[in-house]
Amino acid sequence: MQKYNIQPDENGFFGEFGGIFVDDNLKKEFLKIADEFLKLKDDKAFNTELDYLLKNFAGRPSPIFHCKNLSREYGCEIYLKREDLNHTGAHKINHSLGEALLAKHMRKTKIIAETGAGQHGVAVATAAALTGLKCDIYMGEVDAKKEEPNVQRMKILGANIIIAKSGQRTLKEAVDEAFRAYLNEYETATYAIGSVVGPHPYPMIVEHFQSIIGKEARKQFLEQTNTLPDYVIACMGGGSNAIGIFDGFLEDENVNIIGVEPLGKGEALGQNAASMAYGKIGILHGFKSYVLQNEDGTPSNAYSVASGLDYPGVGPKHCYLKDIKRVQYVTADDNTAIDAFYELSKKEGIIPALESSHAVGYALKLSKKLDNGSKILINLSGRGDKDINYILKNYGRI
Ligand SMILES: *Cc1c(COP(=O)(O)O)cnc(C)c1O
Repeated sequence: MQKYNIQPDENGFFGEFGGIFVDDNLKKEFLKIADEFLKLKDDKAFNTELDYLLKNFAGRPSPIFHCKNLSREYGCEIYLKREDLNHTGAHKINHSLGEALLAKHMRKTKIIAETGAGQHGVAVATAAALTGLKCDIYMGEVDAKKEEPNVQRMKILGANIIIAKSGQRTLKEAVDEAFRAYLNEYETATYAIGSVVGPHPYPMIVEHFQSIIGKEARKQFLEQTNTLPDYVIACMGGGSNAIGIFDGFLEDENVNIIGVEPLGKGEALGQNAASMAYGKIGILHGFKSYVLQNEDGTPSNAYSVASGLDYPGVGPKHCYLKDIKRVQYVTADDNTAIDAFYELSKKEGIIPALESSHAVGYALKLSKKLDNGSKILINLSGRGDKDINYILKNYGRI
């Protein structure tokens, strides 16, 4: 019996969080997808195909790397789970392949998805190209400008890009518009959500496909060090890379687990995307979680220098893990992430994604406070190639 690593109930609740807050037709469809998924996830042929693709297409298992230079300087033993080495540059290929295979199995012909930094869009477009599905990707206008190379990549892969021009023109609006489109097309299309968010069964599905990170990491860490890490740290957008690695360690009560939310430019509403630090319980995009809200209860604007993190809600299982105090949720601001971006690049020869840099930045600060030799495992969710132009233009230090 798992004490902390729980599954949602049949209505998709982790404690009071999650659920399916959408109209009845769509709810029926989501419950059907849940059924199909629950059958498929233990199906031998499905898993053989998925395992083959994860290994030979995506490049798994991703290694664990001991950062000896940083360890020497910061006094803790710092390790990275190298999700940045996956095909398409981040952890998102893990669940995109799973979601595409699920869509094929359900005889759908199209995948609809939203994207923030473009990483999820690229991963879905990649999986769609591989499996022969049509692909519509919704992206906020601001993000599309900032992440231009990813827009081009998706086009080359054959995806149709729809630019969201409402509101803040970032991730939240892209999700709004993609959901609206899906409402009209759910008989022939599936929605491939980019994180452990949205109505049930999406948080459960995405978590399942990402939990491979934690499974591999626990085994690899034991093999390399003969112990478990003292700390496991990951950055938090919707929370998929975080839950993926956390799942491997939730039942190990001696392992401290930390999720790092983006503090952006500060604590004021609209200046950050730290939903658990500053949000209130509410409903966003069909599920209940901690949501950053305006005074009138509407979802507020979210901001982070990392496009992939600026979402005003967070996965329901994280909300549950926060409330039962198994996982500690903290914040790191833009500057902490930028410093870590350069630090990891210059000291270890690894250019991290701005999203992942939040986890690295928090870990480096923490390591100065911990006992010498404490072991920290950071989930390096993605690589920084996509951020290079933006960083040099706005935070150039070379
Ligand atoms: C999308 C993205 C994230 C944030 O998403 P989660 O669901 O919170 O993991 C983090 N890192 C990278 C590199 C990403 O592309």
